[in-house]
Amino acid sequence: MKEVVLSDELSEEMRRIYEEMASSYDVVARSLNFSCDGCPDNCCDSYFLHHTYAEWAYLWKGFCELDEARQQELVERSKQYILECEKAEARGERPQVMCPLIDEGRCSLYTHRLMVCRTHGVPASMRRPDGQTLHFPGCFRCQKIVKKKFVHDSQAPHVERTPLLQRLVAVERKLMGEKLHLYPRVKLTIAQMLLKGPPAIATPHCERSGIKPDV
Ligand code: SF4
Ligand code: SF4
Repeated sequence: MKEVVLSDELSEEMRRIYEEMASSYDVVARSLNFSCDGCPDNCCDSYFLHHTYAEWAYLWKGFCELDEARQQELVERSKQYILECEKAEARGERPQVMCPLIDEGRCSLYTHRLMVCRTHGVPASMRRPDGQTLHFPGCFRCQKIVKKKFVHDSQAPHVERTPLLQRLVAVERKLMGEKLHLYPRVKLTIAQMLLKGPPAIATPHCERSGIKPDV
């Protein structure tokens, strides 16, 4: 297995993409006079799976910057998180377990948190590669604000996610190379990522017999 590591250039691009996600979120939040302050909910207990090697590698990079004791603490919490999720799934429920990275209400890897953590809350739209546009209404509190201020949801300001997602896909392609489609699809919670360690891949011919790498 070979560890998947972001080059300095790709790390910098991830940082810029994430920063722009956060700033475009802030612009919309400000114009709606919306914030998470005083919310009785905490979205960090929402169950999300993440799908790119690039985000996993960037999260791992942030994790490696923590001291060893902190890393160990987060690994232990991740184990507990996974157990709790398994119990919920065994009951036929969607897990709702607090993210192992949350600490006294703050994210332990704030600058490396994932896309979903930066985009949930305000209205957004996204054009899929097949041309279909998806609309996200924002969280329940933001939806209430939109309903009060606008006759129709479509009049509300929103984050256009498409260009940022396209840049994320471009990083994923550069990181994984032309054979991206041959590698196992990422479908992991943050806890699973941290327990697995850094993303690592076998060369394609190890994964699927008959397919040989030409490098
Ligand atoms: S995104 Fe919405 S639901 Fe989530 S914490 Fe913020 S205000 Fe609450
Ligand atoms: S990574 Fe950070 S922001 Fe995202 S769910 Fe976990 S604690 Fe919350």
